[in-house]
Amino acid sequence: MLRTLRPGHHVLVPDDVFQGTIRILREILPKWQISYSSADMTDVDAVRAAIRQNTRLEWLETLSNPMLKVTDVASISKLAHESGAVAVVDNTFVTPVFQQPLQLGADLVVHASTKYLGGHGDVLGGVVVARESNSTTETIRQTQLLEGSVASSFDCWLVHRGFQTLTCRMRGHAQNALLVATALEKEPLIAAVYYPGLASHPQFELARRQLQGGFGGIVSVRVRGGASVANAVCTNVRVFTHATSFGMTESLIQQQTSSPTHGPGTNVLEDLLRLSIGLEHPDDLVDDLVAALESAYRDFGAGA
Ligand SMILES: *Cc1c(COP(=O)(O)O)cnc(C)c1O
Repeated sequence: MLRTLRPGHHVLVPDDVFQGTIRILREILPKWQISYSSADMTDVDAVRAAIRQNTRLEWLETLSNPMLKVTDVASISKLAHESGAVAVVDNTFVTPVFQQPLQLGADLVVHASTKYLGGHGDVLGGVVVARESNSTTETIRQTQLLEGSVASSFDCWLVHRGFQTLTCRMRGHAQNALLVATALEKEPLIAAVYYPGLASHPQFELARRQLQGGFGGIVSVRVRGGASVANAVCTNVRVFTHATSFGMTESLIQQQTSSPTHGPGTNVLEDLLRLSIGLEHPDDLVDDLVAALESAYRDFGAGA
């Protein structure tokens, strides 16, 4: 999609966009004289002010990784169209089961099929979905074909297998995530819980309007005691696996600054843990986290 742009064009991205996306914009696209800037996409006025004359692509990510911000897809897509830009939504976090950006006005949707679409942590892939075929989608197709970013047939088979249980899995992930988020909100060693299904989430009302049937399976938390406690929680857990990625049946935990896509100059909180809530029994997940936290805080939190 970014290859459809020309020298001189500008891309507007959310201020907490996925690190892998920002690194493409920062490290690769400047060589083609394509610039970018970021805005808080939860603030429609901020987006309006950030749009430039040469903005051709507005990149939305909702829910966002890892802060789980909610962007109003309808309003931001409308702004994009008024300025002659294309609105793209990265829908990886909630999948089409809970959010359908094309119906809200977006032009293109992307998913990492590595995550929930595949659903079992055994495939790498990506999907672009377009509202209609036109010259932009034709360019995307040609670029894919000629530059070789084509999935193997076995990888396609794995994603196709994943699709068959996508709806059931997403319901299970979301149900468990809400239970875990609710339990963690009461935990004294947790400083903050980010989950759009909690009434405490700043965009809870928008999330309720825009997401249908669930709020996804990712919960982010800040722990008391700083980075060393966050690190220790990742080593102490026994049900969760300490690993990058998310969206598989098993629960994963990751400290954001240790992510391989975390580059220099990215502003992610050191005490932030991203939890990919799997399909295990939710009591086991809460017990595991609480035990890991208590022992991490005993070992590393006292001085903080
Ligand atoms: C993981 C992720 C991607 C990229 O996925 P990979 O297949 O791991 O390259 C893109 N967007 C979001 C929001 C993600 O979380």
